[in-house]
Amino acid sequence: MKYIGAHVSASGGVENAPINAAAIGAKAFALFTKNQRQWVSAPLTDKSIAKFKENCAKVGISAEHILPHDSYLINLGHPDNEAINKSRTAILDEMMRCEQLGLKLLNFHPGSSLKEISTEECLKRIAESINMTLDKTHGVCAVIENTAGQGSNVGNKFEELKYIIDLVEDKSRVGICIDTCHAFAAGYDLVGNEALEQTFNTFDKVIGFNYLRGMHLNDTKKGIGSHVDRHESIGLGAIGLDSFKWIMKDPRFDNMPLILETPDESRWPEEIKMLSENL
Ligand SMILES: [Zn+2]
Ligand SMILES: [Zn+2]
Repeated sequence: MKYIGAHVSASGGVENAPINAAAIGAKAFALFTKNQRQWVSAPLTDKSIAKFKENCAKVGISAEHILPHDSYLINLGHPDNEAINKSRTAILDEMMRCEQLGLKLLNFHPGSSLKEISTEECLKRIAESINMTLDKTHGVCAVIENTAGQGSNVGNKFEELKYIIDLVEDKSRVGICIDTCHAFAAGYDLVGNEALEQTFNTFDKVIGFNYLRGMHLNDTKKGIGSHVDRHESIGLGAIGLDSFKWIMKDPRFDNMPLILETPDESRWPEEIKMLSENL
């Protein structure tokens, strides 16, 4: 079964996210559990936590289909020791919030070398950050998102993501989220059945579908291999609707959150409906 949703607003409290998801016909959702542009946010209140769980149950969305996203400020591969510690403190707080909310997944961007260290060194620092976070928490899977390879961001190649996974001690608590816009920008072709087969066969060979925990379904404003991260509404970009229909028909994407991060929120109900009709 396919669980399609969007990255919905948690404004006014995390408990509003499941309500916002249900309102657009979603069976899955993503959210920020704190302000994504600030280092420190107030702790979740007991009331907010209870209400979040109550609302998820009310709308029938379970933890397996909720994919919280971390703050944009965090860089788990930061070359500077003081700065990386700040990011490690922040990701630990994010994962503890997920624990409190009874969530199972935490989606984050791998990190950036800032061109001060090699890609390999950056990947090692990211794996170390993940290990430190998993050591102090329970039950939440660290879900690494592939990047567009913009600037000095690492993790646009499947081999780089696999390199991180190989260094993570608890393999049961590490996974991957593939963002279609980022994959296309990184040079993985997603146009046409043959190209889709090839890209996802490569993914399976290099990383393995057993590590796939979620998808970000985004069309893109830019061409293949652009390394530019510009999301577009489904069917209006360079990837095209047929590719998303192909994903909808493939059982390898069953039972995981399939999240829209498309720019025009007013289209979300229509996008979810369009994708659901292609099951
Ligand atoms: Zn992301
Ligand atoms: Zn994404």
